[in-house]
Parts: sequence; structure tokens; C-alpha cells
Amino acid sequence: MTDAVVTRFAPSPTGYLHIGGARTALFNWLYARGNGGKFLLRIEDTDRARSTPEATEAILDGLRWLGLDWDGEPVSQYARADRHAEIAHQMLGNGHAYRCYASPDEIAAWREANPNRPFQSPWRDRSDHPHARYVIRLKAPRDGETVIADAVQGDVTFRNDQLDDMVLLRSDGSPTYMHAVVVDDHDMGVTHIIRGDDHLTNAARQAQIYDAMGWKRPVFAHIPLIHGTDGKKLSKRHGAVGLHEYAAMGYPARAMRNYLARLGWAHGDDELFTDEQAREWFDLDGIGRAPARLDFKKLEHVSGWHISQMDDADLLDELAAYRAANDQPALSEIQISRLRPILSLLKEKAKTLPALLEQAHFALIERPVEADEKAAKNLDPVSRGMLSELTAALQHDNWTRDELEQAAKTVAEAHGLGLGKIAAPLRTALAGKTSTPSVFDMMLALGRDEALARLEDQAG
Ligand code: GLU
Repeated sequence: MTDAVVTRFAPSPTGYLHIGGARTALFNWLYARGNGGKFLLRIEDTDRARSTPEATEAILDGLRWLGLDWDGEPVSQYARADRHAEIAHQMLGNGHAYRCYASPDEIAAWREANPNRPFQSPWRDRSDHPHARYVIRLKAPRDGETVIADAVQGDVTFRNDQLDDMVLLRSDGSPTYMHAVVVDDHDMGVTHIIRGDDHLTNAARQAQIYDAMGWKRPVFAHIPLIHGTDGKKLSKRHGAVGLHEYAAMGYPARAMRNYLARLGWAHGDDELFTDEQAREWFDLDGIGRAPARLDFKKLEHVSGWHISQMDDADLLDELAAYRAANDQPALSEIQISRLRPILSLLKEKAKTLPALLEQAHFALIERPVEADEKAAKNLDPVSRGMLSELTAALQHDNWTRDELEQAAKTVAEAHGLGLGKIAAPLRTALAGKTSTPSVFDMMLALGRDEALARLEDQAG
């Protein structure tokens, strides 16, 4: 029987959640969820100077927004320092580590005398203990190779004579990052480590600790980093790099999951998929070796598709979450009732949630409708006159799309004009803007009384 899958996301809490980190978390989450496993969270807060509680909260918020639920409580790496020390001392006991008393000056002098060679401590094979100030170093193999059988990169070989005896425990008793990661991953039962390939060389060093302790190595999968649109390493100049920025732009979380999953992973030619499909399809074989590039066009496309696929209740929830996150008031009953009849039309077109709200503007405003400068130009005296005639013609209960269109045409034709000439002022009266859904759809969504009242407000 194979072990149950356990993955983890192990951010250092020094800032917000980057989309690279979000993608790493997503891959680990998909792999765990798709294999009936667990997805754990560890906050790598050993760097006390740089780690902040605010950053931890920002990262957790980002994961929550993206819908990546983790199992159990987040583990604090710092809180486990005693355990890290305990294992380092165990390694002293079993001969896989040693006390090194070399001072920084001695190490610097050795390096100067041995350029381009990893430091070799003179204390590796000594058993005297001159004083109490020492670091604990791994007694790493000096011959042969350390091979990482990486699920993405294939076999990656490191010559052991190129790797020094790394420090496990500093002289103040605190663990090094490399040591803490291995002890934690082992104790947490992590079976698969999926992370950025900037950690690939760390994997060789970490594997040496697993081997020294006689622990089974996890499966490593090092994924190429995300690049910007120009193919260069992602940085702020490529635009948004924080997940929260994408949330603020109004991409629904499910669209971001789909989009981020495709950044570096593929399932045939499938570009658009649901969460269920992603969980079912996700595997390590589908992760590519070439860096994925950000592609905002694609993101728009993915986002538009997900919006079009949402049912009304889902979409209203997403809109509510978006407005709340942007400090906009919740939608009222009346706004929702005007929105409902037109939601299916709006969701076919909108690429983002704010773009949809922009088109829904007419349903969210109250009388008197304020026209923007461009829209106001459509309210000349002739147009106002036509609105007046149309208002008179529509004082009946037979409000169907055909009926409305016919009435508008009749009024326009009486002035020797086409439908477009009455549609423009009608649009201004109803929405105060020039880019809106069709005037008849707006009239039906608003309902007879509200629509007629808006026309009357502008009628001449
Ligand atoms: N804390 C590391 C980082 O944020 C990740 C370490 C790991 O995944 O092993 O880059």
C-alpha cells in the first residue's frame, strides 16, 4: 500500500502572498485533494527579524480568498526550535554530525587559502571539546554524489565534494533554516514537496539530512518559476505580483485557480476547467520544465468563462464578496431584484466582476439618474420630445421586448429617424451612460414603473 499523500505549503511570513506562492500552494492543494490526502500549512517564521504576524495574516487571507483550505492548525516553525535542537543532538549521538569550534575568522582564513572549495572543518574528526561555544555541523558524505530524483526535473546530481558540512544548529542553539525544514517535513509526515525550483539545490542538502537520519525522503517536485510577459523573471514591473491585486481587479477566485493551475501545468489542451476537473486531472507529470509566462489576455478569457458558467446565486455571492473587499456597500434587495432579470445577459459578456457591475450600473442607481458628459449630449430637445411620446405610448401593461421595440420604432419613424436615434437618449435616461446593456433589456429589468419614471424625468 502506498502512503497517504501529505503535502504542505511553507511560506516565510515576510510580505503578502505572491502569485508564485499562491501557485505553489495551489499545486500542493490540488495534489492533496485529488489524492485523498492532506494539505498542511507551515509558517516558516524562524527569521525573527523579517517575520511579522501581519504577513502571516496576509498570507492566510490570500489562501482563504483563493479557496485553499488547509488541514489542521498552521504550524509555526519557530515554535518547534526545541525539536530541531533535539534532532541535531541525536545526529551528534549517531555520528552524523559534529561540534565545530571554528571561529568566523578561522573559517574566513580557510576560505582564503582554499578558493572555490567548500569549507572543510578541522573539527570533523576530532573528539575534544575545548569550550562550550560551537555549532553543530552535518557530517556530510565527501565522496560520491547526491541525486535528487525530482518528479519534474528528472534526476539532478550534485557532487558531494561541492557541498560543505552545513550547519544544523547555530552556536546560540537555534536551528538553521535547512535543518528546520527537514525536521518539520519529517514530523509532519510530508510525502510530497512541490515548490519553486529556486529550492532545488536546497533539496540536495536536505536529502543529506534525511539520509543521515535514516528517514525516507519525500518526493520532490521543483516547478519552474513564473516569468513575466516578456519571458523575464517576474517582478513588480510586470504589473500585479500580489494575489490581493488580482482579487482587487475583480477576477473571481475560481478563475484564478484555473489560471494559476495552467501556469506551469497542463492537461492536454484543456484551458478552461472546473475545480472538480482540476482535482481529478492534476498530477506531477503534467508540470512542465519550462517557466510559464504570465498572460493577462488568457486570464481575462479564463475569468470571462468562469463568470459565464456561474449560476445566479454564485455570481451574486461573488459580487457581494467583491464589493465587501472594496469597501462598497452590500447590494440592497431592490438592486438585486433589478439585477436578477439581466444577470444571465451580463455574465455572458463580463470578464471581471467590476466590469459586470459597470454594465449593471443602471440597476444599481436611483432616480434622478445622473448622466455623464458623453451621455448627456444625447438629450437634445428632439430626443426629449421622443422620450415624452414614448412614455405616453407605453402606459399599458403589455411590456414585452417586442412591444417595447415596436413602440420605440414607431416614435422614431414619426420623426423620420431610425431606432438608433431614440435608443441613445433612452439609454441616457435609463442609465446615464453610453455603454450599457440593450435599452429594452434595461427597461424590462427595471420594471414598468421605474423605467417610465426615468423616461419622464428626461422627457421634454
Ligand atoms: N519558506 C520557503 C519560501 O517561502 C519555502 C521552503 C520550502 O517550501 O521548502 O520560499
